[in-house]
Amino acid sequence: MHPTPTVTEAVVKGLAMHMDELGKPLCPCNFYKDKQTEAKLRRWMCACDEMQIYKYCHCLLFVREDGMPITEYLPEGHEGREVYGIVTDPTPDKGRALKHKAQPSAELVAPKSPAK
Ligand code: SF4
Repeated sequence: MHPTPTVTEAVVKGLAMHMDELGKPLCPCNFYKDKQTEAKLRRWMCACDEMQIYKYCHCLLFVREDGMPITEYLPEGHEGREVYGIVTDPTPDKGRALKHKAQPSAELVAPKSPAK
């Protein structure tokens, strides 16, 4: 949880409002054209796909003790990497239930061998 209680409270309140409104914990930090339609999908249910794949919470609810969101698993070019740089995961053995869905980050992709 975020070290600043007001951040945690705001996000939890937003999740609770969506629970009341939609019956589901839809992420409160996005804009949705149609919340009802979005609520039928899995991707932005807390803990959202981005959290389960990359361990990145753009709402800043699930962050390191220093308040920084983990970004080290995000693909190159993701806004989280652009904003925060590379923020390492202090507990790499925990979480990321859907990590098999991760897009490879640029530096992990093997260079192509030159055509012969
Ligand atoms: S885990 Fe995902 S859905 Fe939950 S608060 Fe963070 S960004 Fe929003």
